[in-house]
Amino acid sequence: MRTAERDVRRTPDPREASLAPYACSATTSRGRLHPEPSPHDRTEYQRDRDRIIHCSAFRRLEYKTQVFLNHEGDLFRTRLTHSLEVAQIARSIAQSLGLNEDLTEAIALAHDLGHTPFGHAGQDALAGCMRARDPDGGGFEHNLQSLRVVDHLEERYAAFDGLNLTFETREAILKHCSRRNAQRLGPVAARFVDGGQPSLEAQVTNLADEIAYNNHDIDDGLRSGLLQLDQLEPIAFFGGHLHAVRRAYPGLATKRLVAETIRRMISALIADLVASSRQRIATAGVDTPDAVRQAAALAGFSPPVREQLAALQRTLRHALYRHPQVLRSTTKAARVLRELFDAYADDPRLLPQEHQPGEGPMRWRGIADYIAGMTDRYAIKEHRRLFSVQDW
Ligand code: MG
Repeated sequence: MRTAERDVRRTPDPREASLAPYACSATTSRGRLHPEPSPHDRTEYQRDRDRIIHCSAFRRLEYKTQVFLNHEGDLFRTRLTHSLEVAQIARSIAQSLGLNEDLTEAIALAHDLGHTPFGHAGQDALAGCMRARDPDGGGFEHNLQSLRVVDHLEERYAAFDGLNLTFETREAILKHCSRRNAQRLGPVAARFVDGGQPSLEAQVTNLADEIAYNNHDIDDGLRSGLLQLDQLEPIAFFGGHLHAVRRAYPGLATKRLVAETIRRMISALIADLVASSRQRIATAGVDTPDAVRQAAALAGFSPPVREQLAALQRTLRHALYRHPQVLRSTTKAARVLRELFDAYADDPRLLPQEHQPGEGPMRWRGIADYIAGMTDRYAIKEHRRLFSVQDW
């Protein structure tokens, strides 16, 4: 795979002086697949972020489910608000650790671009369809799909497909990847073949994602009534903060009690992550971004907080993600995607002209791309158009 020359002249970033030596620097980026002149008034990573915000996959995140189906309530998180929360948390952490905030923000805003409609239920359904039709085709992985969106699927630029982002943003978008798919992808996925880590900006964003979804799933879970306070109270991490708020503000209404508890949990997680990562970075003695890639994972919570977070996740899994009402929605969602896939696979002429898949194995990939790009409500509408007799 081609990479732009390292020595292209790049806009100097006045903030580079404040970056830690292990932070990624826009002036020494490994560059873009299609060489482009450097931007005049912003850095390479700022340009990445701007391109992500302007792309159509980003706007579609507004109508994609996080946990609750998008049409179930206006107050619940969507993939868009989730991505914004991840960006905010990740930037705070990046700033404290002297990392590159622009790169961190770009990674956070792009990290879910490849998500299917209907959250994880949708992705599992689509993965199942791909495995059944094309066992050797690499299946469907949402991280890989996010990379496909920014490398191939967006059609906005005259000179290239995709957004032509920098290596560092692309490397980070690929959070997980099977070894087989990694071998096909080349340098951007090399760490899944050779071992090693991504940049600290990528590691931090990954953990910011975890902080964001655990806390907002508690918030949405309680708001929806599927989760009760007394289910969460016994968990030390949640209970500790909840009791501290109750002590400080006796008689506080539940809505504020929950919001204040979650606010404190987010702050505590960020503080722990920063302190613990700082210590690990110092112990490892890394002094360049490449040294970070060769070291063990350096961003991380302290062991006790990691354990508390795991306890919280166990409760969420049991009480919320596997709640009968959530399961009913996810089962229905999976069926919608499977039936759409089968209908297009049996007769590709049902797809719009511009999405007609090629022949051979690309046929299945084209169908997966089209379905993955749908919003929840578009998938429901399309399913109705294809299958409903009432709406005929
Ligand atoms: Mg996420």
